Amino acid sequence: MAGEILIVGAGIGGLTTALSLHDAGHQVRVFETVDAIRPLGVGINLLPHAVREMDELGVRPALEKVGIATAELSYHTTRGERIWSEPRGLEAGYRWPQISLHRGVLQMTLFDAVLERIGADRVHLAHHLDGYDADDHGVTARFVDRRTGAHAGTHRGLALVAADGIHSAVRALLYPDEGGPKWNGAVMWRGVVPGPPFHRSSTVAP
Ligand SMILES: Cc1cc2nc3c(=O)[nH]c(=O)nc-3n(C[C@H](O)[C@H](O)[C@H](O)COP(=O)(O)OP(=O)(O)OC[C@H]3O[C@@H](n4cnc5c(N)ncnc54)[C@H](O)[C@@H]3O)c2cc1C
Repeated sequence: MAGEILIVGAGIGGLTTALSLHDAGHQVRVFETVDAIRPLGVGINLLPHAVREMDELGVRPALEKVGIATAELSYHTTRGERIWSEPRGLEAGYRWPQISLHRGVLQMTLFDAVLERIGADRVHLAHHLDGYDADDHGVTARFVDRRTGAHAGTHRGLALVAADGIHSAVRALLYPDEGGPKWNGAVMWRGVVPGPPFHRSSTVAP
């Protein structure tokens, strides 16, 4: 298939899509609103089916260096009494581990792989998708630099993949009457503190 696939968004979804399509022999180009990718976020878990994809893409070794192969999920009361535990990843019998790691570190690992394999000249930062026109042969996408509001160019591709997150501009264009995502009202707080081991040797604080 001749022509490029335009991927909007350089988050975990967009970068993984870029690596997958490149691996399958397609030409891709990635567009991202921000002018620099920085390792933001909190801890997330890559479950075995996701690690399988990372393995296929050849980034599993890099992720295992920066993450933890999680052996167990365990809920405790504030007094340390166990409520529920279950094995995870390899210990649960999967062929791939569960990897717990920082979201930003995952994103930077994928970003580095994209730069190395696909090339920095195919990654356009400070390119916020402003709109697109589709026809029978492909799509023309328009971009702005959101810091200045200045036009940042148009790009023609065979297809456009919207990986622009929960507030997707593309989804808003496709479903203008849908409204924003609905919040269920729950706020979750996370924290990490050093402490003595309380369960397995792997709970030893750094
Ligand atoms: C606290 C928390 C914990 C989580 N834990 C887990 C977990 O344990 N396991 C798990 O699998 N998932 C977890 N998730 C969910 C996971 O983080 C998200 O599903 C995932 O990051 C979404 O990736 P994405 O690439 O779709 O979107 P994003 O990471 O939001 O990336 C979208 C990108 O598109 C860019 N963009 C937006 N609009 C435009 C535009 N118009 N033009 C160009 N670029 C644009 C943005 O700047 C951004 O870089 C968690 C989420 C949160 C908030």
